[in-house]
Amino acid sequence: MRATRLVTADAAGIAEAARRLRDGGLVALPTETVYGLACDATDPRAVASLYAAKGRPSFNPLIAHVPDLSAARRVGMFPPAAETLAGRFWPGPLTLVVPAREEATSELARAGLASVAIRVPAHPVARAVLAAAGRPIAAPSANRSGHVSPTTAAHVQADLDGRIDLILDAGPCTVGVESTILDCTGAAPVLLRPGGLTREAIEAVLGAPLAAFVAVSPDKEAAPLAPGMLASHYAPSVPVRLNARTVNAGEALLTFAGARPPGSAAAAGVRDLSPSGDLVEAAAHLFAFLRELDHAGAEGIAVVPLPRHGLGEAIADRLRRAAAPRSADRSPDLTFRH
Ligand code: AMP
Ligand code: MG
Repeated sequence: MRATRLVTADAAGIAEAARRLRDGGLVALPTETVYGLACDATDPRAVASLYAAKGRPSFNPLIAHVPDLSAARRVGMFPPAAETLAGRFWPGPLTLVVPAREEATSELARAGLASVAIRVPAHPVARAVLAAAGRPIAAPSANRSGHVSPTTAAHVQADLDGRIDLILDAGPCTVGVESTILDCTGAAPVLLRPGGLTREAIEAVLGAPLAAFVAVSPDKEAAPLAPGMLASHYAPSVPVRLNARTVNAGEALLTFAGARPPGSAAAAGVRDLSPSGDLVEAAAHLFAFLRELDHAGAEGIAVVPLPRHGLGEAIADRLRRAAAPRSADRSPDLTFRH
């Protein structure tokens, strides 16, 4: 239980929001679309606690919000088309997915991906908080999972009171649609999600039609995807074995709460998601530890049984995807909930 303060978005409120964000807190703030639930995107514990507050059953990559293009360039690498689009449409309802500067955001915020989604919002309060926070801020909608997105501070309070630190009230949002998401990691920008910025406006700047997202299935058949349902997920290059009660020869061990199943002493590497058994800490470590063990030279990763309550559900969801057979790996993630 957190004491949730509701404050007006004046200079003092904005300063308090920035301070709370720098301290790893959770702050609801207005954007031009809906109220977002903001946290420090560089801090995996803050991101894990954001998932816990929303009660999300899975970890999806989050959008990193920054005050301007120069801050954005510190978070991702901008190919020429992304530079052009950012220069033309930021601040505004356009999110660009670009190759990540991996040290600039936590792996949990990116759900382990090597790309990062970035946006410069137009709402003056959001921009003031971002400038004062001085670091990329993850901000999905400020509602509990499965509830509708909030457009007033009262909506946020009704949904998240006692679960977050601060609500910055700047009146109702100009009810808008979500941001348009463009993938700029490939040869040409691809529309991942239609939103507040129209395709026509983007195509006019690019001077070419935009390709729609097409998922390439393992058997090389291309299948178009419904908009808004995108992003394949991170999976280690070696097999992941769940609910392991022993560690086999050649395997590395991903464990929890100090468990050391038989075979642990000979493991190719050991990471404990949370020696004290804290699921928020476990979530914060999940992607980084999977990656470390993947690079430990092991033939596979054995994962001990984990609790299923609280963030355990989201951790289990991601581990299940990481453990999926290689052929199923590249199937798109159709379970995003916001
Ligand atoms: P929202 O914050 O609800 O507006 O939505 C965030 C959207 O951004 C989700 O649909 C994510 O899948 C998408 N997204 C975030 N990061 C990435 C990424 N690296 N690659 C592809 N899509 C992303
Ligand atoms: Mg939402």
